[in-house]
Amino acid sequence: MKTCFVSIDVEHDFTLPSHSREIKQFQGIKNLDKILDVFKKGGVSATLFITGEVLEKYSDKVKKWAEDYEIASHGFSHKFWNTLNVDERRKELRGYEKLYENVFDGMPNGFRSPSHLIDEQAIELLRYQGYLYDSSVVPHYPFFKKYRGYKKRAPLSPYYPSVDDCRKQGNVNILEIPTTGQIFGIPLAGAWIAKLPIWFYEILFKISCPHFITLSCHSWDILKPSFLEKLEAILILLEKKDYKFLNGIQVFNEYKKV
Ligand SMILES: [Zn+2]
Repeated sequence: MKTCFVSIDVEHDFTLPSHSREIKQFQGIKNLDKILDVFKKGGVSATLFITGEVLEKYSDKVKKWAEDYEIASHGFSHKFWNTLNVDERRKELRGYEKLYENVFDGMPNGFRSPSHLIDEQAIELLRYQGYLYDSSVVPHYPFFKKYRGYKKRAPLSPYYPSVDDCRKQGNVNILEIPTTGQIFGIPLAGAWIAKLPIWFYEILFKISCPHFITLSCHSWDILKPSFLEKLEAILILLEKKDYKFLNGIQVFNEYKKV
């Protein structure tokens, strides 16, 4: 059996050209149940990395989602962490944790940085705050594309990062669950799934079935035509290839230090 970590970043309609960046829109949130229905049909466990803004604005919806899915942190405001100093980062985390505590009690277990911008100082902060896992490192990416979250290669399976380099194996006590794509770093991610034909992924999985991969979507992927049908087809393909679908805390339990 191989592992597929499934997640949705639940946030304002980020990067959609049709939406003004001045006023945040949340069409994806209002339609998220459509993605979750596809997951339910396939018996898929998943983590929802939710921003504090969404948790605050739609707490009743998030409570309902929490009955079936793990709720983890995607930062409070979706500000990029490469533009924040340590105090601002701490404020992002604590603001979120306070809100989470009011809604659910306790602490979120996992974190994903907006646009996967992560560094050693951020990892140390997360460890200090008591997070069990981070899922921000992009360990590989296609050579023909640029992505602000990809810095350099990293382990393709969950690992404990090094204090000097969060993209290397080490002893910092927080599990890094990298967002591992198919071969050549081709991501199983919303925008790619919506654009690429299913036969393309079928060929990739014929070439290689990595023992660990991640399937990541965004709340606003639902606004892309034919996304849902493609998502369903990918889940069926992965199931055929003997992948089990886990959320973050399940992956943590599978890969944690013993
Ligand atoms: Zn995001």
